[in-house]
Amino acid sequence: MSKNYARADIQAIAGYVPGEQLSGTVIKLNTNENPYPPSPRVGERARMFDWQQLRLYPEPTAAHLRECASRIFGLPQECILCGNGSDDLLTIALRTFVGAGEAFAFPEPSYSLYPVLADLQGARRRPIVLTQDFQLPSDLLAQAGDAKLLMLARPNAPTGNSFPKEAIRQLCRDFSGVVWIDEAYGDFAEDNCLDLVKEFSNVVVSRTFSKSYSLAGLRLGLAFGDASLVSEMNKLKDSYNTDRFAQAMGVAALEDQEYLRQSVSRVKATREKTAAALKELGCTVLPSQANFLLVRPARKAARQLFLDLRQEGLLVRHFSLPRVEEYLRVTIGTEEQMATFLQAMARLDA
Ligand SMILES: *Cc1c(COP(=O)(O)O)cnc(C)c1O
Repeated sequence: MSKNYARADIQAIAGYVPGEQLSGTVIKLNTNENPYPPSPRVGERARMFDWQQLRLYPEPTAAHLRECASRIFGLPQECILCGNGSDDLLTIALRTFVGAGEAFAFPEPSYSLYPVLADLQGARRRPIVLTQDFQLPSDLLAQAGDAKLLMLARPNAPTGNSFPKEAIRQLCRDFSGVVWIDEAYGDFAEDNCLDLVKEFSNVVVSRTFSKSYSLAGLRLGLAFGDASLVSEMNKLKDSYNTDRFAQAMGVAALEDQEYLRQSVSRVKATREKTAAALKELGCTVLPSQANFLLVRPARKAARQLFLDLRQEGLLVRHFSLPRVEEYLRVTIGTEEQMATFLQAMARLDA
């Protein structure tokens, strides 16, 4: 066996496993991408983009994009940080707020990247066990203890439910560390927590262009927080963490809020229709405020159904994790894709 040169703690970590990116004729319902294209304004801006400018480094803090985000979200530019996807921002958060050996709290089950980020930072994982129906436990604060950072996804993934806003507000008020609210699916939800950023100096809300804006391939995310938090995080980010092209496309996408509303409302309508149809088939479908559904098959074991669907070119996600292993996570695609999916479910979940 050849020698392993990596740090011992890195060798011991499995690493994050992203959803499959297969090529060929598959219906891709496994990584919560938006089935509709990005705003046509992004297309126009891409065609107009001066490729010769790529010779130059980008503006380090994505000033123009932050200016635009400031107008749209109603927060000062100093309160906004741009990332190479929101995963980049989550990494920056760990590095800024949690020292090696300190505790990092996150709900379980939730986004499977959180425990990986803890390990990579040498932080102590402090999972907060969600209730039977995947809600925040009443002893949330006690479970979080002296963690330096508490990160939660709202709506949560892969469960799809949200948490009561009042409970979040209380948490922000009473928790001694930073509360990070990952709103990757915020645009599909009934409400969001952006206003808590103004109310509290220990709160960060992050958003991504990957889901509602249909720009997963661009890699762009935004974090909103008190200027003091943002200025510390700025020290930790790569100097040029967002590139010239992404910054320009991000502005074009943000400027077309009308398109965003249309795209999101189509996805939400399909979500409700699909949930009803799955229940009709006898599946258990958890309430969702995101662009995916967590579905327990009526008859077949989730893992087997995942494999059977895959055989037919229908790619969904199955997590071999406690409490969610009996479910499939199904991204909302177009009406047509979901009709194909439902037909396959009727046949295979038998
Ligand atoms: C998709 C997702 C992200 C990451 O989004 P990127 O901007 O593509 O890095 C972050 N958090 C949650 C909960 C997600 O589902």
